[in-house]
Amino acid sequence: MTDYGVEAPIAVIGGGLAGLSAALELVDAGRNVALFERRPFVGGKAYSFEDPKHEVILDNGQHITMRCCTEFQAFLERIGCADIVRYQDNLEVAVIDPDSRGHHVSVISSKQPSVLSRLGLQLLPAPLHMFPSMVTYEHLTLAEKTRLAFAFEPIRRMSELERLALDRLSFETWLLNHHQTERVIERFWDLIVLPTCNDHCSDVSATQAIQVFQEGFSRDTGAADIGLFTRGLGQVAHAALDRLRERGARVELNGNASAIVMHGGDAAAVRYGRGQQADVSAVVIALPPQAAFNLVPAAWRRREPFWRLSQHEVSPIINVHMQWDRRVMRRDFVAVLDPDAQFIFHRSQIHGWQTPPHWISVSLSGAHNLVDLPQQVIVERVERAVRRALRRTAGANLLATRVVKEAEATFRPTPGMNAHRVPARTSIRNLVLAGAWTATGWPATMESAVRSGRAAARALLERPVQSR
Ligand SMILES: Cc1cc2nc3c(=O)[nH]c(=O)nc-3n(C[C@H](O)[C@H](O)[C@H](O)COP(=O)(O)OP(=O)(O)OC[C@H]3O[C@@H](n4cnc5c(N)ncnc54)[C@H](O)[C@@H]3O)c2cc1C
Repeated sequence: MTDYGVEAPIAVIGGGLAGLSAALELVDAGRNVALFERRPFVGGKAYSFEDPKHEVILDNGQHITMRCCTEFQAFLERIGCADIVRYQDNLEVAVIDPDSRGHHVSVISSKQPSVLSRLGLQLLPAPLHMFPSMVTYEHLTLAEKTRLAFAFEPIRRMSELERLALDRLSFETWLLNHHQTERVIERFWDLIVLPTCNDHCSDVSATQAIQVFQEGFSRDTGAADIGLFTRGLGQVAHAALDRLRERGARVELNGNASAIVMHGGDAAAVRYGRGQQADVSAVVIALPPQAAFNLVPAAWRRREPFWRLSQHEVSPIINVHMQWDRRVMRRDFVAVLDPDAQFIFHRSQIHGWQTPPHWISVSLSGAHNLVDLPQQVIVERVERAVRRALRRTAGANLLATRVVKEAEATFRPTPGMNAHRVPARTSIRNLVLAGAWTATGWPATMESAVRSGRAAARALLERPVQSR
């Protein structure tokens, strides 16, 4: 057994953002913490790796944050890493329709026209602040744009209880019931739902999608401003790890937790690594739902709330990192109305890498139809789509590619799933749950992970933790 000194530590199992956030909250409250992470590094679904062949640091997947992600921002400040994010002054998303003729870039923006500011009317309240850019959004007809109001207004007025009552309905059904058409869904609503909820409107519960629009567009004019990471995501994980160690936490990398030992109805010890065991005073399980379910002692798995963990499905994300011999895009990122391109990020520009070759990252959410294809097929499809979307690729050479498939990138917020997003507290007195998939109300984001970790830590801190 591992000897941790006088007070047995609180075990945090899982070194993703949920586990890191829980561990930080606990050490900052003066608790003895031991973090167990299966892999040799922390960060979970948000990590960087070095591509030695091309001497470049890449992320497993392009991540963005938004100003409404306030707890994630507070987490970055707490670990001294807030300067890694560069926010837009106003939300601005250039949307490319490769199939349209002529002027095929249109911008969705929260920027208000200067004529309004000259009249002192700069602050059109949310969601009206989006109105000027929607007037000029060219990928919808005027009639289609008018339809948007029939959905935005009920979303703005909807109470939390009304929203929660819609969980069994798909967002697509809700939109069709509110005068939206399939074309409007494809060319506007899916543009936002797919990257934020990691699935299409047809597969996402109305409750989840409406939460996104309420947080991002209905409350505060700056809420949806996008934040880009100017350095690799690994730096966030490193900074969190440094802070934990500074505060005396013990971190077991390569510390795969294989069992929780119970004693008198409480979690008493964690088995990990190669047959080691650590006595613990409490446990935070901060794992994806299926891994968490597998770790729950067998006798408890059929009970509330644990059986619900096994009900979760997952949704994939694929990132195709591409190295070009020249600059192929001007903006930091663009959205593309093409399922094989979706969002393209100019990694070299965002990271301030001035000289060629230029790296871009293509992020494909809800990639159910691509994830099982061979990498070469994915690359061919994505290259075709990128060349159609970005005119500057004419004559440019694609030098190298790196495909990262995250088959289990996020939980899937399908209709009816909200009931299976459980709160931190469980029927085991000293065992709590964390993870982006728990009952935070947010889709699978860094914000949700950080919120869940804090909620789990607080649930334990509210109860006296006894030494064993
Ligand atoms: C490609 C991609 C793009 C994304 N884009 C965005 C984005 O743009 N914006 C955004 O906000 N979010 C994005 N997300 C989602 C976000 O990254 C996740 O929601 C968040 O990181 C999940 O954190 P978590 O701690 O809940 O879970 P995880 O990150 O899954 O952490 C779980 C940890 O537990 C460890 N583990 C598993 N089993 C064991 C065990 N038995 N013992 C010990 N450790 C174990 C794992 O190794 C992992 O480190 C993206 C995710 C992916 C994959």
